[in-house]
Amino acid sequence: YAKLKGKNNYQFYTVELKEKLEKKMSMETELRNAILNNELYLHYQPKFNLCANEMIGMEALLRWENAKFGNVPPVEFIPLAEETGLIHSIGDWVILQALEQMWEWKRKGYRSMKVSVNLSLVQLRQLDFGKKLAKAIEAYDVDPTLFELEITESVMENVEEILPTLEEIKSIGVGISIDDFGTGFSSLSYLKSLPIDTIKIDRSFILDLIHNKDDEAIVKSILNIGNNLNLSVVAEGIETVEQLNILKELECPIGQGFYFSKPLSTIELEEKFLK
Ligand code: C2E
Ligand code: MG
Ligand code: MG
Ligand code: MG
Repeated sequence: YAKLKGKNNYQFYTVELKEKLEKKMSMETELRNAILNNELYLHYQPKFNLCANEMIGMEALLRWENAKFGNVPPVEFIPLAEETGLIHSIGDWVILQALEQMWEWKRKGYRSMKVSVNLSLVQLRQLDFGKKLAKAIEAYDVDPTLFELEITESVMENVEEILPTLEEIKSIGVGISIDDFGTGFSSLSYLKSLPIDTIKIDRSFILDLIHNKDDEAIVKSILNIGNNLNLSVVAEGIETVEQLNILKELECPIGQGFYFSKPLSTIELEEKFLK
C-alpha cells in the first residue's frame, strides 16, 4: 500500500510539475509579445517628505495586463523576464516610458519631481547601459538629477562587476537608490565605495514598528548609517498613522506607502497630486 501511495504521489507530482512548466512557457510567450501588444504600463507611487507632509517624488512600478493571465504581479513576471532575457527590452521600455512621462509633465507645466524606476542586475550587466541611459535622458530633455534608479541590495554581491556602470550612471547625474535595504545579507562596505544617494528601509522593518523594539532598533540604525554617510533615507510600506508618527519621531526624512497613496495610474496621479 505504501508503495502504491508513493507511486500515486509521484504521478501527482509530475502532473503538477508539468502543468507548472506549461503555464510558465505560455506566460513566457505572452510576455514576449507584451510590449508590442501594449500590455505594459507604469503606475506611480508618491514619496513624501515626512516633516513637511509634502509629495517630493514618486516610484514607477511596472504593471502587466494580459488577456490570458489577467493582471500579473511584478513579483511573478519580473523573475520570468530576468530568466528569459526579456528584461532587456522590458527594462529599456520602462526607462523610456518614465522619461517620456517626465517630459510630458514638464510640458504640462507641473512642478518637477524626482522619478525613480526599478532596475534588475541583468540590466546593470549590459555593457552599453550607461550610454543608452545618457542618450535617453538627452532625447527626452530631462534633468538627470530628477531621475533615479532603484537597485536591490542583493545586487551588491556583484559589486565589482557592475561598478563601472554604477560610476557611469553617477557621472550622468542620475541618482542611485538601494532598495529593500536590510534584507540583502551583503557586507555594508559597498556603502562607502559606491556612488549611492539613497537607501530605502525595507517594508518588513516598518510593518511591526509599533510593537517590535528590535525593528525600531534596526530602523534607528539604518537612519544613523544614512546620516553618517550623507545618504537620504526612505521608509517603504508606511500603512498607518502610528507607523508614520514613530518614523517622524526618529526623524526619517522621506516615506512611501499605502498611508499616503497606493501606486496610481498617470491620470489618477495627475488628478490627486500634480494638478
Ligand atoms: P519594490 O521596488 O520594493 O516596490 C515596492 C512594492 O511594495 C510595490 O509592489 C508596491 O506596490 C508595494 N507597496 C508600496 N507601499 C506599500 C504598503 O504600504 N504596503 C504594502 N503591503 N505594499 C506596498 P509591486 O508594484 O507589486 O512591485 C513589487 C516589486 O517588483 C518591486 O518591489 C520591484 O522590486 C519589482 N518591480 C516593479 N516594477 C519593476 C520594474 O519596472 N523593473 C524591475 N526590475 N522590477 C520591478
Ligand atoms: Mg523599488
Ligand atoms: Mg522596495
Ligand atoms: Mg520592498
